[in-house]
Amino acid sequence: MTDITFHGGVKDIGGNKFLVDDKGTKIFMDFGMSFSAANKYFSQFVQPRTSNSLNDMFEMGLLPRIKGLYRRDNAKHMDFGGDEDTEISAVLLTHAHVDHCAYIPYLREDIPIYCSEESKLIMQNFDDTSDINQYLTLKERFQVYTNTKGEISRASGDKIAVPREIKVFESGKKFSIDSIGVEPLPVDHSIPGVHAFILSTSSGTIANTADLRFHGRRAADTEKFVEKCAISDIDVLLCEGTRINKTSSMTEYDVETQTEEIIKNTKNLVICGYPVRDLDRLLSFYNAAKSTGRYLVVDLKQAYLLKLFDLSSVLRGKYPSPTDPNLKIYIPRGSWGLIDKDLTKFSERQLTMDYDSWQREFLDYPNAIDYRDVLKNQKDFVFYCSDYKLQELIDVKPKEGSSYIRSLTEPFDDEMELKEEQIKNWFEHFGLLTKERDWHQIHVSGHGDGLQIKRVIDETDSKKLIPIHTQHEEYHKKWHKNVQSVNQHESMSL
Ligand SMILES: [Zn+2]
Repeated sequence: MTDITFHGGVKDIGGNKFLVDDKGTKIFMDFGMSFSAANKYFSQFVQPRTSNSLNDMFEMGLLPRIKGLYRRDNAKHMDFGGDEDTEISAVLLTHAHVDHCAYIPYLREDIPIYCSEESKLIMQNFDDTSDINQYLTLKERFQVYTNTKGEISRASGDKIAVPREIKVFESGKKFSIDSIGVEPLPVDHSIPGVHAFILSTSSGTIANTADLRFHGRRAADTEKFVEKCAISDIDVLLCEGTRINKTSSMTEYDVETQTEEIIKNTKNLVICGYPVRDLDRLLSFYNAAKSTGRYLVVDLKQAYLLKLFDLSSVLRGKYPSPTDPNLKIYIPRGSWGLIDKDLTKFSERQLTMDYDSWQREFLDYPNAIDYRDVLKNQKDFVFYCSDYKLQELIDVKPKEGSSYIRSLTEPFDDEMELKEEQIKNWFEHFGLLTKERDWHQIHVSGHGDGLQIKRVIDETDSKKLIPIHTQHEEYHKKWHKNVQSVNQHESMSL
């Protein structure tokens, strides 16, 4: 018998954690965070306590209470076992969006994570560019040792780094995890390396759409996945429905053309904001900048991600390399802001120390620029400015006749509205927004609309359908005759 238990990702957008149990072979598909569940109790200022994180998360219903699943340093310290063998054979990751992967750092280090090369590199980008992320390597906590004076001393986390078992699968190539056959198939979505799965179990075939659409640069991948399902005799399809209640979608190519048009009509600086890890969107801005004779200016996090992709033999050439002639890398002020200070007083070495180790090599890139270049030559650039780095506007001082293109999702709750209000204030202050002129909102979603999802449902032709990643199951029910609706923590059997 084969069961699927839904520990998240049903009647909710995100938080996917689907436990498949095939005669004792247990694998999780995704191990993500539910924004709605997490935001119900936690915020920037109220977080699970590090010393009791597992129990805090269990209490508030954010992680399932399963022995042998969580990192042993935490489990032991928080009296939740830790010495037992794990029953979980693997985690299969569809993609590296946080609603699918954010709780991986809680997992035991010896549970293998199967993912695409792209997902691995995006998680590496998370780890390397922040002190707190532990996707690929965990740093053991709560360890003690006896110091030279014979006292019990606390070990600092950084000294004991434990690499996780990351197994990169090849797109389209089948593999097995004990009794379960896995076919990872690429689909089109708003981050690189997204894979849907077809699982062959002893009781039948399960497909999981992951997050998908037909209106991006990789629509042909989604088409192939659907075709593959059609010939695979799918017993149960877990089908996303984030935008199933929406009726139409622009394409990623529309984003590129509309952006190009705005750049053409802009005298001075073009400023843009888009999802930092959506490299297909980066490509839209890169193409639009190139065709209008401008450089795309990216921030250090994007430069680092492009570097990781460029170093990968599998991915090189898919996206611009960080030294691409049409790209500039923006060096912001570091911790002391020495970039524009007199280095006979401070020294080159002091300037280097202004930056984290992952940032330093970019200082020497031939295409590195700083605010002075952007300030002087505004008509030469399309300048990426993240919502978290709006202070850069103070330095680059957009002149009259500059534009802002906002290529991000529109707010869908009060908190986001409030944040957007604040962002608007910044652009108003610098004269990019006026009573007569709004910013240019140009965005397409990573998720298919109703017609696209209906096409997935129709063409995959599964015997049973389970709505996931949605709050609108009524559409799934309208379009499939055998829909099983499940609640969080409920199981279904094949
Ligand atoms: Zn996603």
